[in-house]
Amino acid sequence: MNAQVDLVTSAVEPLVESPFERNLAVEEARAAILGFVRPIGGFERVSLRQALGRVLAEDVIAPIDVPAYENSAVDGFALSSEGLRDGVGMLRVIGTSLAGHPWALSVPRDGCVRVMTGAAIPRDCDVVVALEACRIEGHQVFIDAVCARSSDNVRRRGEDLSTGQAALRAGKVLRPADLGLIGSLGQADVAVRPRLRVAFLSTGDELRSIGDTPDEACIFDSNRHSLWSMLERLGCEGRDLGLVRDDPLALEAALTSACNCADVVITTGGVGGGAADHLRDTLARLGKVTFGRIAMRPGRPMAFGHLHGKFSDSIPVFGLPGNPVAAMVAFYMIIRDALLRMMGAHARPVPLMRVKALEPLAKRPGRTEFQRAVLESLQGGELGVRVTGRQGSGILRSMTEADGLIVLEAERGRVEAGELVGFLAFEGLV
Ligand code: AMP
Ligand code: MG
Repeated sequence: MNAQVDLVTSAVEPLVESPFERNLAVEEARAAILGFVRPIGGFERVSLRQALGRVLAEDVIAPIDVPAYENSAVDGFALSSEGLRDGVGMLRVIGTSLAGHPWALSVPRDGCVRVMTGAAIPRDCDVVVALEACRIEGHQVFIDAVCARSSDNVRRRGEDLSTGQAALRAGKVLRPADLGLIGSLGQADVAVRPRLRVAFLSTGDELRSIGDTPDEACIFDSNRHSLWSMLERLGCEGRDLGLVRDDPLALEAALTSACNCADVVITTGGVGGGAADHLRDTLARLGKVTFGRIAMRPGRPMAFGHLHGKFSDSIPVFGLPGNPVAAMVAFYMIIRDALLRMMGAHARPVPLMRVKALEPLAKRPGRTEFQRAVLESLQGGELGVRVTGRQGSGILRSMTEADGLIVLEAERGRVEAGELVGFLAFEGLV
């Protein structure tokens, strides 16, 4: 009944010109957000394996040389180049040194030591000749030419990292190789930025949570699960505040508690100008709305503003659209970089590939479009893309089937088959 009254009222009321009715270009929206958010402070020390995906809070300075001693890069014979004449010689094999078992004796000029990969170079030797480059005759080895590359067979002390060198810089999002590198320094723990606390909630009277009775005309909430997952992947600490009804007072209470338990708040749904959409007005009442629409598809209704909170005077609030695809695309394309910035991460942008459209793409100029697509390898090493069927912003399957997003610039119109388009892949190697 109330909803009907509201509908009638809004139909007869003149539309009020408001600052959040303008469609911002994607770049404008991103710039406005990035200009607003600041990295959160503090750090914590975590054990090495807890640090995967976390943001390094301070430079990691090598306390030792890596490798800590000269060692062989191949299986071969270590010798002194002075024992050869014009790079040629017949040397006695006086023993074998395995990795971890250094040769303790001296090596005469006419002798050599058989060394395995990783074995320390014996003190009198300066060259390792690879096994396959020698002729072995009993206890003798014939070296016919120490080629220039023989020095490549010796790994110099500190050639990977030298004492005092910055092995990793603050702001790096730690990946598998980084954990390996820190491990190679013998370091048990590492200083990382605190996990960014991101409160999120879904709004909509029609929404139900897993386990609820699926009443008539209701749907199960999917946004909180994709949001939790995207936050988790980004290294944030998602705080799920559940479902909120399409009621301004309920939303006000939810936003207030959200900004008292988090560094950032993300909502989905209720962000347009419809009769049950209360996000923008509530945000404007409690704090400030910077913008409320972006010229993009999917994801046009999207609000950004801030509220006073327990941890900061200005907690950024992102009001994502309710449509599941739009919510995800807006998260990736509009707010992901801002969250990385708040996390203190110096992340490089995801590379935009240029690939060939394998079919025509409907597109209207005036807004940036993101279409879900599958990559195809073409003959000659080129890559092509095809959209994942219908592109409705409620068709979440179009995301699960996709390898990434085709990015069509705002000014662009319809794309013909064979034209190059931008493509952002969802996943990389690490
Ligand atoms: P809204 O942005 O609130 O106008 O919602 C747009 C569409 O997205 C509607 O069809 C909603 O039912 C749907 N929707 C909103 N929130 C969710 C959610 N959390 N999970 C799944 N669908 C949603
Ligand atoms: Mg709604």
